[in-house]
Amino acid sequence: MTSFKPIVLCISGFDPCGGAGILADCKTIEQLGGYCMGVVSANTIQTESAFMANCWTDSHFLLRQLDAIVGRYPISACKIGIIQSVELLTLIAERLAEQDCNIPIVWDPVLSASAGFALHQQSRLRATDILPKITCITPNLPEAQALFGNTSYADISVSTGCAVLLKGGHSNASEVTDTLYFGNEVHRFTQPRSKFQKHGTGCVVSSAIAVSLALGQPLPNACKQAQQYVSGYINSHNSLLGFHSNYISRNFNYD
Ligand code: PLP
Repeated sequence: MTSFKPIVLCISGFDPCGGAGILADCKTIEQLGGYCMGVVSANTIQTESAFMANCWTDSHFLLRQLDAIVGRYPISACKIGIIQSVELLTLIAERLAEQDCNIPIVWDPVLSASAGFALHQQSRLRATDILPKITCITPNLPEAQALFGNTSYADISVSTGCAVLLKGGHSNASEVTDTLYFGNEVHRFTQPRSKFQKHGTGCVVSSAIAVSLALGQPLPNACKQAQQYVSGYINSHNSLLGFHSNYISRNFNYD
């Protein structure tokens, strides 16, 4: 396929209200210059403020969906969102590496929705086993704690080769600082804290990183741009939903 936009494959859940999951990934990726393809890891019943149910996609069906896409299209980057198990994540990473071992993989390790729904019963997915196959993992503070306990994120990055972007949105600071542990390097990115909150910010950040990697940006630049992008998205409307384009809202009221 020549003269096509770089393809970013998202393996994410379906959120019908479009704030999180594959719809959020798609909006982000198309806005930032990529072409989004998707494999649905779960179907959910939710709105921006309430999470009612999650139904994981049958893993054989998911892998067949993946095989059909990977077998036909050159994938420039992959973003993985909610996923049933580390075992499935491993199979996905292996399938991608069979096509091209250089496909960057960004994993947003979602353990529960901010509306309070736990997606995984065990607090600690055995994440370290999979990390050598992942380019960048993007936990928020509670996720990082649950996954890695007190292990230093710099050590994790050096020992596994997987960069850790620790998102600072859950801190109490007046500014939001995301910290990227990238081998021996540490990069910090800061934005003013918005007075608004959003549903699905983790999805937006990870897919923004994936599309920048697909476009050839180095990881620190990709993380910086992702923080700027999500910041614009958070500020785009005062509800938990927001806009990805420069479209000015007509004061729709979702409260
Ligand atoms: N629903 C889906 C399908 C998701 O992928 C995610 C996060 O990745 C969420 C819900 C949670 O969104 P939030 O916790 O930002 O409300």
